[in-house]
Amino acid sequence: MHPLHFGSLLWPSNNKKIVQYPTLSGDAERCDVLIVGGGLTGTLIAHKLTEAGLSVALVEENGIGSGSSSASTGLLQYSNDIMLSDLASQLGEDRAILFYQECKHAVERLCQLAARLPQDVGFKRRSSLYYASSAQDVPKLRSEYEMLCKNGFSVDWLDEAKIKADFPFAKPAALVTSGDGELDPYHFAVRLAEQAADRGLRIFERTSLVSVEGTKGDLLCHTTGGTVRAQAIVYAVGYRPETACCSAIDVKLARTYAIATRPVPSLAEWHQRWLLWETARPYLYARTTTEGRVIIGGFDEDMRTPVELQHQLRAISLRLLDEAKALFPRLPLELEYEWNATFGESNDNLPWIGEDPERPGHYLALGYGGNGAVYSMLASDIILDELQDRPNPLSSIVGLRNRKTGLPT
Ligand SMILES: Cc1cc2nc3c(=O)[nH]c(=O)nc-3n(C[C@H](O)[C@H](O)[C@H](O)COP(=O)(O)OP(=O)(O)OC[C@H]3O[C@@H](n4cnc5c(N)ncnc54)[C@H](O)[C@@H]3O)c2cc1C
Repeated sequence: MHPLHFGSLLWPSNNKKIVQYPTLSGDAERCDVLIVGGGLTGTLIAHKLTEAGLSVALVEENGIGSGSSSASTGLLQYSNDIMLSDLASQLGEDRAILFYQECKHAVERLCQLAARLPQDVGFKRRSSLYYASSAQDVPKLRSEYEMLCKNGFSVDWLDEAKIKADFPFAKPAALVTSGDGELDPYHFAVRLAEQAADRGLRIFERTSLVSVEGTKGDLLCHTTGGTVRAQAIVYAVGYRPETACCSAIDVKLARTYAIATRPVPSLAEWHQRWLLWETARPYLYARTTTEGRVIIGGFDEDMRTPVELQHQLRAISLRLLDEAKALFPRLPLELEYEWNATFGESNDNLPWIGEDPERPGHYLALGYGGNGAVYSMLASDIILDELQDRPNPLSSIVGLRNRKTGLPT
């Protein structure tokens, strides 16, 4: 059983041809940067660093994309789990707006990258409908709408009547953000890795990092298959933070559920096939796929490991299916794929990206939160800047320095 997910995953079930990479065997691979982890984060960083001309190796314990990237539902949204207005209270308005703007740019770049890949990765541009789960949430959603508008984000306000006109369900109000997207995150990671490998990335699957010795500029990285000498190491290990060995990070691990239905003949009543999510926490979210399936996810539970029994999974899958039917009662929705997976968040709702101040040469790329893919993209820019000694405006927000750890001091 995979430690991060349980059930039948949608994306890897699609029988597309996938390149297999060797296991590391022997010593003395030498490179500028060793990336640990071949999920969406590791492959995006590898893609960026090889494009910049660095010599890069990547080790992945299982197969490329097989971690939580294969369980992700692939929504690309710049609006964060934490609203801009709440982030402004946490960081100050200027820094919060900068962070949101950078997330928006990251979505744009993810969309461009996905659209330019020669293979199909199920990518489509979409808007997102963010609806108030209850009437009490309307004033907060309205002030979020006003703050986004004031700061130049393209956003619309829908009242109850307008939502009813566009959708078969009733909600008290919603905001609509444009410029978001959807894709198949597993095949996206796989294709990014292939493209980076064509540019010289050396990939070793079924190879785990075990320990690291040495100092920045000359790190000796021990793996299960041999050693790699690197000037720097990047931990893109997803919800396996123990590999990064960094005491400063404060991670909340939970588990979350998702299902995908069989393709339906028509999704015409799903207005422009917008991505759907809501103000309740934890929230439900839903999207469609290029094959005409409906994906719906949510019902997070405060447990660090996935369920282990099929009947436990099925009970929640049926509740998710009921939620999808409540939104779209006329769609003939039938369950086909169902899965449960580990999911991570940080206590301050921000990812951990950048060099560990206590271990020069060791970089973290841990994009915890609902916008994990967007954070992975941010990580690729920030880490390249830091490796090349260029300042990045986000380093002081998502870096490790001066972050509250939540750990006892
Ligand atoms: C059900 C679900 C739905 C989600 N939906 C979305 C969504 O809609 N949009 C979104 O943006 N995000 C979503 N996420 C978050 C999503 O998982 C992340 O965005 C992203 O895919 C994580 O990528 P990653 O590369 O950081 O982690 P992973 O894909 O888990 O990759 C990390 C890799 O590191 C490897 N590894 C760990 N330790 C070692 C070691 N010692 N040596 C070698 N390799 C190691 C693992 O094997 C793994 O393959 C969702 C997550 C879940 C669980």
